[in-house]
Amino acid sequence: MTGTLRAEGVRDPLDAADVARRVRDGRALDARDALAVLRTPDDATLGLVAAAGVLRRRHFGSAVKVNYLVNLKSGLCPEDCTYCSQRLGSAAQILKYTWLQPREAIEQAARGIQGGASRVCLVASGKGPTDRDVGRVAGMVEQLKAGHPDVEVCACLGILKDGQAERLRASGVDAYNHNLNTAESKYQDICTTHDYADRVATVQHARRAGLSPCSGLIVGMGESDEQLVEAVFALRDLGSDSIPVNFLMPFDGTPLAGTWELTPLRCLRILAMVRLACPDKELRLAGGREMHLRSLQATALEVANSLFLGDYLTSEGQSAEADLAMIADAGFSILGHDGGAAASSPAVRRRGAGTDAAPNA
Ligand code: SF4
Repeated sequence: MTGTLRAEGVRDPLDAADVARRVRDGRALDARDALAVLRTPDDATLGLVAAAGVLRRRHFGSAVKVNYLVNLKSGLCPEDCTYCSQRLGSAAQILKYTWLQPREAIEQAARGIQGGASRVCLVASGKGPTDRDVGRVAGMVEQLKAGHPDVEVCACLGILKDGQAERLRASGVDAYNHNLNTAESKYQDICTTHDYADRVATVQHARRAGLSPCSGLIVGMGESDEQLVEAVFALRDLGSDSIPVNFLMPFDGTPLAGTWELTPLRCLRILAMVRLACPDKELRLAGGREMHLRSLQATALEVANSLFLGDYLTSEGQSAEADLAMIADAGFSILGHDGGAAASSPAVRRRGAGTDAAPNA
């Protein structure tokens, strides 16, 4: 009777282990079960995590993929995304700057790699890049790859125009991030200067150019459970290879200031739903994990298999040292660094600046 409704409208308890078994056997999570996952009672949520965790271990073992953000260009954006500290008219106290010099960008990336990152995410604020911007980023990527041939590079530059994804791919970029952020039915509430279809088109463009699509969510913006399911199923349909989940950080000076909807257990249920919907996809803890998951961050790694190390784009995260200790304490290893030895000295900077990969960051 998993996830079904009785005639009188009372939902039977979700048999999370049964749902996970069916997903393991190749049956896609359906909307009814996805909603039941989100509505799991608090006292059954750790059982849900254990069930979803079976899929995480099946596909990713005990590895945690570490990603590192480099904020190439911060603030000063003409778009009006309500959640973003860099939006038009934002009064949030963030650093604002135009493009980092290539040397500075590569030095920052190298610090993240030293800290254990196997993917570097190069992010710039704005609606989308000019061809000159793409050339600038391509040059940085060529230099970065020359020094660190094994590192994955993801670019996050906004909505792409014809030929730009191909130019990035040719320079060595491996992946492109462009988050759907929320459901199509919610999108008009969070942005009026571009639309949901623009976002879908850019993810598709990146994929056609041979870039691995990275697209995820911001949760806690007033979306309903149904809209959360709608958004996650859209990511599944889009074939996103990696799914960052941001937990809204309601910056003062933005329209969503004061929006506090999430609890740590609610965050775990959302992550479990994403894992059950997309069992073999990289699921990444992104901006806001510290303030919303709080003491359950390590528990979240039982479901998610990836995180951003250290700071976000426009806000400080937990220190990189604390992230690495948390991963080790919970019995996980860092992807690409058996035993975590290479990640012993993160030397990661503190920051305050940023955009779209973790726009909430
Ligand atoms: S999310 Fe990106 S496009 Fe939207 S306001 Fe922020 S920087 Fe601009």
